[in-house]
Amino acid sequence: MKILVANLGSTSFKYRLFSFSGEAETLLAKGGYERVEDFGAVISDALKNLIDGGHLESMDDLAGVGFKTVLGKDLSGCVLADERTLAALDGFAQIAPAHNPAYAAGIRQFQRLTRAPCVALFETSFYQWMPESAKHYGVPRAWREAGIRRYGFHGASHKFIAERSAELLGRDDVAGRVRQLYVRGPGEEPAQPLRVISCHLGGSSSVAGMRSGVAMGCSFGLSPQSGLPHNNRVGDLDSMAIAVAMKELGISFDEALRQLSKEGGLLGLSGCSNDIRDVVAAMEAGNADAAVAIDVFVHSIRQWIGSFFFEMGGAEALVFTAGIGENQALVRERVCAGLAPLGIELDTGRNAGFRAAEGDLATPASRTRILVIPTNEELVVARETRRLLLSRSS
Ligand code: ADP
Repeated sequence: MKILVANLGSTSFKYRLFSFSGEAETLLAKGGYERVEDFGAVISDALKNLIDGGHLESMDDLAGVGFKTVLGKDLSGCVLADERTLAALDGFAQIAPAHNPAYAAGIRQFQRLTRAPCVALFETSFYQWMPESAKHYGVPRAWREAGIRRYGFHGASHKFIAERSAELLGRDDVAGRVRQLYVRGPGEEPAQPLRVISCHLGGSSSVAGMRSGVAMGCSFGLSPQSGLPHNNRVGDLDSMAIAVAMKELGISFDEALRQLSKEGGLLGLSGCSNDIRDVVAAMEAGNADAAVAIDVFVHSIRQWIGSFFFEMGGAEALVFTAGIGENQALVRERVCAGLAPLGIELDTGRNAGFRAAEGDLATPASRTRILVIPTNEELVVARETRRLLLSRSS
């Protein structure tokens, strides 16, 4: 069974083609286009290349197309990308302006060009079962009814971590529960809980707490602008800040939003770069703003880890993933500093040279394992697309 995963940005289209046969999952091909103006043309071109390259026998060889959609109004989960899905994307286009319109347009193009069913895996799916207490802001009822609440994102990545960490910790019962989550729901929690705190630190960053594979909460709230400071996006901000900035800086509302989404985060704090490698290099060269940027980032990560550690009464594993989490030893060391009294003890020697691989960086004495797990969001989209299509045909 061949599944194509389409990753759409406002001007980019990337794809990966997976083949599933029994237990085997194979990445057959990947590719992408930047500065796209005509999505129909590049999608046709990609499909033609996959056929010419021998990866697909014909268009009919494609069993399904999966999309990692961000969020929809009144809709979440892994669903067929039909008119209801397109309406849900439109309904919340304001919250994810770079992605929702692009996904809606991309889904329409694929529907025109192929007969393969299109499936949307919303990034919010993983948070469907989080407790009510983790879903709400202290806003008036009418705001809640308008959909203003915490949703959580990076769902595909944190779900990958939930399943893989359970496998690595020998908890096949939890891994199996995670695998079936969107098909069967969470069902009964295993008698022995598994508490994992997952830190996805990359261009966008988030922390999620997971109990036996089910999310308890996420640092992301209403929009991808929230939570931890991101590469150039703000993260959490007091609701009065925009009004003050408009008055003090003489800028419009739209300009304030633009600045917060393009000139905030690590870039805004450091004043030098949105890439943590440059920020660390600047800090090491004595740049005080760069040092503050790293401090704020680490402080924010620790606040969220602490919140989930406390809420869940501890954690069997703390996981680092994505570009920064997998590669940036300094951030991992700073995040774990001084936590030995809580049973979280990093082997700093092993951590120092560790990158881009799967491993356990905790000392033997540490009660919490400290894992690095390279994430694979596209594989999650492909797997869930396949599961949905198989569950419909059985
Ligand atoms: P995205 O959210 O865009 O998918 P990634 O997960 O690829 O982002 O993470 C991108 C970020 O990870 C970069 O901005 C960079 O700061 C950091 N990063 C990537 N590779 C490395 C590396 N080898 N060493 C340190 N940091 C890295």
